[in-house]
Amino acid sequence: MAYKNYPMVSRVVFGRGSFNELTEILAPKRLSINAPFIFLVDDVFERNAWLTSRIPLAYNDNIIYISADEEPKTSQVDELVEHIILNNKERPSGIIGIGGGTLLDLAKAVSIMLTNDGETKNYQGWDLVKNKAVYHVGIPTISGTGAEVSRTTVLTGPEKKLGINSDYTPFDQVILDPELTKKVPKDQWFYTGMDCYIHCIESLNGTYLNAFSQSYGEKALELCKEIFLENSLSTEEKQDKLMMASWHGGMSIAYSQVGVAHAMSYGLSFLLGTKHGIGNCIVFDQLEEFYPEGVKLFKKMKSLHDIQLPQGICANLADDEIDIMIDVSLALKPLWENALGKNWSKIATREKLKSLYLKM
Ligand code: NAD
Ligand code: ZN
Repeated sequence: MAYKNYPMVSRVVFGRGSFNELTEILAPKRLSINAPFIFLVDDVFERNAWLTSRIPLAYNDNIIYISADEEPKTSQVDELVEHIILNNKERPSGIIGIGGGTLLDLAKAVSIMLTNDGETKNYQGWDLVKNKAVYHVGIPTISGTGAEVSRTTVLTGPEKKLGINSDYTPFDQVILDPELTKKVPKDQWFYTGMDCYIHCIESLNGTYLNAFSQSYGEKALELCKEIFLENSLSTEEKQDKLMMASWHGGMSIAYSQVGVAHAMSYGLSFLLGTKHGIGNCIVFDQLEEFYPEGVKLFKKMKSLHDIQLPQGICANLADDEIDIMIDVSLALKPLWENALGKNWSKIATREKLKSLYLKM
């Protein structure tokens, strides 16, 4: 088909304190007393009663705390799925991810792999998933990635960092409760928030742009500017608006693509384990020639919020290591084509990428 028939999140709740409604939302989805709800929760919330006391546990329901220090891996998804299958008589009624992009992506991937055979790495790519996933719910606790609304779950496998892009990936239910983001540390708030800002810049300046993507991208960009450049919003307003910016930024790239910053940041992530938010910032800081206006504004926001990005992370890499990053990056053809057009490979040469990486 020439036009993508895009699935969306089927249900969404928005509001401060809406997390309290989790019990009522889940109850009708329980398949049997032997089919538990499994909550995958960022371990930053372990022993945080304010959040965990509101997770409704009955029968064999259970919470698995997971660290977000490293981004999700295909092997980690395989282990989680095996653990869940071995410890329960029946397939779960639902998987609920509570956390940032890391936990949201894990919840999506686990729910898919509970109904699809074989190893997770075999599903990295486009439209390889055959069976509908287990009911899955996303509850973001930090805003910016758009993972709550997207059709992908980004995983690092043995050979590549690539998403499981499928019609079964999007959440069946999302709970947007901006209050859950109140304890996010400032630097992390900036990095993940900038992921949203960069989604907007890459989408709005891409060759794939269309009215659908533009309408969401412009709204998200306007919200980002209000949050990161102006000084007129209360803390609560900032939390509310960044959650909606993330949603709109995610919707914007759904019908277009990201661009140079994401392509190069995947290289950093694959080789050095640099996390998505900070990695995008490190790359974007060097991309004036591709996104002059966007980078200028980024530098302004960086200085307003007194953010110091790591320097020289590629300075001591060997040539073969740089080559790995370049390979990972250049393999993401749709991102480059969106950013630079059909003849992208004439501009994004290996030498060009090497010189950019060496500045980071
Ligand atoms: P994250 O989930 O990696 O979390 C970042 C840090 O913030 C962690 O230390 C976490 O513990 C902490 N944190 C989260 N919520 C908190 C809270 N309320 N209070 C205190 N600390 C909190 O961050 P992220 O930037 O949201 O996600 C990055 C991941 O998202 C990457 O793995 C990336 O690949 C993925 N991603 C996915 C998509 C998609 O469409 N699926 C899009 C972009 C990024
Ligand atoms: Zn991103």
